[in-house]
Amino acid sequence: MKTVSNLTKVWLSSPHMGGTEQNYVNDAFDTNWIAPLGPNVNAFEKAIKDELGNAVHVAALSSGTAAIHLGLELLGVGKGDDVICQSFTFSASANPISYLGAEPVFVDSETDTWNISPKLLRKAIESGIKEGKKPKAIIAVHLYGMPYKVAEIRALADEFEIPILEDSAEALGSYFNNNACGTFGDIGVLSFNGNKIITTSGGGALVSKNKNYIERAIFLATQARDDAPHYQHSNIGYNYRMSNVLAGIGRGQMEVLKNRVNARRANHQFYMESLDQFKEIKFLSEPEGYFSNRWLSCILTPSYEIREKLRLALLEVNVESRPLWKPLHLQPIFKTSKQFVDGTSASLFERGLCLPSGSNLLNEELERVVTTIKNVLS
Ligand SMILES: *Cc1c(COP(=O)(O)O)cnc(C)c1O
Repeated sequence: MKTVSNLTKVWLSSPHMGGTEQNYVNDAFDTNWIAPLGPNVNAFEKAIKDELGNAVHVAALSSGTAAIHLGLELLGVGKGDDVICQSFTFSASANPISYLGAEPVFVDSETDTWNISPKLLRKAIESGIKEGKKPKAIIAVHLYGMPYKVAEIRALADEFEIPILEDSAEALGSYFNNNACGTFGDIGVLSFNGNKIITTSGGGALVSKNKNYIERAIFLATQARDDAPHYQHSNIGYNYRMSNVLAGIGRGQMEVLKNRVNARRANHQFYMESLDQFKEIKFLSEPEGYFSNRWLSCILTPSYEIREKLRLALLEVNVESRPLWKPLHLQPIFKTSKQFVDGTSASLFERGLCLPSGSNLLNEELERVVTTIKNVLS
């Protein structure tokens, strides 16, 4: 039996360069565009725009979190406002609510997509209105790349006239009814953090069909400088624009996005087929019209105990796996926040495990994951 020390580490989701990234980075050096603006930023934004279609406008920013922060500000969220947020997500979906002095209202998930439940969302909105505090925005998330119930959530947003901030940080390359994720909200958010489907090492983008939002976002992201020869400010600004050096990485990465989606989907397919004999292990399937980039391949086990057995057995052979996101309404920092929950995300968290999902995994590594899981379950 091999020991951990002579087995290479298998990461959950590691960066995967395509080859042309460094050329664009070199261009930035050769032309001295070492700044949070320049040709790489423009070309990267254009590449994102072309990928998403639907006549969207794009602002490349320093992170997905920065994009959520600016997005909420653009939607008019301020001190004391209530903002509805999917509970089953990464903390960065909700932290910017607090940056603005607003209050999160957490809503649980449904079981078809693991994303925000339309039923509980209606309850949260109606309850807020009844108390004289209509929610200012809805943050819906395409978790692990699986689109949320786009039509149902849009219908509720329209019925109550509440804007949607679409957290598509994990869903670049995912589609619902042939429309790209990132284009469904009043404002959409992408992330290019190191563990995402493509990366600029760190970065994000704000997306909208409304050009005014994007112009305003760029203004606020570059210190909110008024039009004057001296530095004059009538607004509080931020330093949130993407560097031209990092946008060079993004340009190269956009060229291989389709490959990366195919590779991650192939990982998911491999896990599903390899573990088919274990009926107690469940995968999240794509409902009709849904196309997931399968950013992370997740399994649901029958219990917390089995989930932990698998996780620890994988660790033993130097494989990184991770429990599903801990719902935000269960996080110490948010435990006193308003919540509309029914136990769905708590159960997913207890029983679910993310398996190594990178587009650069080797066959030996995928086999190691599957063999280890099989040994535990048999
Ligand atoms: C990664 C992520 C973010 C934050 O993006 P950063 O670029 O890391 O700031 C926000 N929401 C979700 C769901 C994410 O996975």
